[in-house]
Amino acid sequence: MLTRLCDDFGGRLTGSPNNRAALEQLASELRALGLKPEIDAFRLPGWERGADSVELLAPFARPLRVAALSYTQSHAAFDADVADIGAGGTGDYAADMRGKIVLLSPAAALPMRELSRIAVEHGARGILFTDREGGGQLLARTGSFVGEALALPVYSITQEEGTWLQRLLARGRPVRVRMETKSRCREVETANLRLVFPGRSPERVIVGAHFDSWDLGQGALDNGLGTAQLFALAQWLRGRELARTVELVWFNGEEQGLWGSRHAATALGATPVVAMINLDMVGVPIAVNALGDESLVPALERWNAARGDRRLPKGVENINWFGSDHTPYQLAGVRAVTFNAPIPRESVRYYHDFADTIDKLPAQIVVDSTAIIGDVVLALADDASLGAFRRSPADTQKLFTTFGLERRMQATGYWPFP
Ligand SMILES: [Zn+2]
Repeated sequence: MLTRLCDDFGGRLTGSPNNRAALEQLASELRALGLKPEIDAFRLPGWERGADSVELLAPFARPLRVAALSYTQSHAAFDADVADIGAGGTGDYAADMRGKIVLLSPAAALPMRELSRIAVEHGARGILFTDREGGGQLLARTGSFVGEALALPVYSITQEEGTWLQRLLARGRPVRVRMETKSRCREVETANLRLVFPGRSPERVIVGAHFDSWDLGQGALDNGLGTAQLFALAQWLRGRELARTVELVWFNGEEQGLWGSRHAATALGATPVVAMINLDMVGVPIAVNALGDESLVPALERWNAARGDRRLPKGVENINWFGSDHTPYQLAGVRAVTFNAPIPRESVRYYHDFADTIDKLPAQIVVDSTAIIGDVVLALADDASLGAFRRSPADTQKLFTTFGLERRMQATGYWPFP
């Protein structure tokens, strides 16, 4: 299924015709199994990539290998000098960058919204962000979690070209470029795909994975892998007796700012939910993570202990993290689960890029990981000591502050608390 999605449709950028066609392909493959997936349409402030260019003018003419970050807005071509601003914090700027394009090092750690705000404050006209992976790669990135056009154009540039420009600037050589952006922000209509396996109880275990990807490659690892794991779970749950209801959901709009999971979590209303399990680039698990919710730990410990010699080597972890589809569910008070499940470096280094293609994903990873994930799903669907549960907003806020996530979330603009 995933080979067909990757090779027949390519990257699944939310709002693109390829994304829509690939979602229809997935739905029709589920229907061929006798299942009844539901399309859950929604709208989001989206973005589409155009034929952008950043051309070197000095020290000599040559096109640069770049990719605009999402929510970079179209603008007419302009020429500008380039200046090195290192990690891009307030302290990294010389007084005036008026009219310049600033070059960011791979060490820049602030969210893009914050980096562009600081750049605009110093009068910059554009940003070139040096990639953290070598080998001519280009990392696509989330430009904004709030869906607004970036205040200035931001481009990812290969590590090799970024560090070359940096060396030229360090020797006082003038570097000048011409930048032109045709990519643009636009409202898009998209959909999540949902598949419900009714159990004896209406209480739900939700298992989600984002279906969308960046457009540069095929989105095989990020997150065709999760898409395939959900598909394998659907085959395995078919016709099975379940104590609780299991809902599988393929989200759209994750890469642009968790839009599909935000939509789904908002639409939950009073549905009783035991937990949400998020599969985003999950390899073969070495630990299961309760994401800071103490009340889930005993059930997960019991599950792992019952596995005998198949126990996960690192057992149960309990560390919250921000930035994928579990976050909107957590914000709705739902408990969430992820896995510590590293993907081999020779595959994972290509994520968000041209080379995130199906040849990097051994089928055995899908088989071995889904065996463990399915076992957790059944444990949560069966465990009589667990019930549906929603945290209070105050406890939810604490779930994020305890793990020091507040500042980063605020900087992205995705922080619903006062
Ligand atoms: Zn992802």
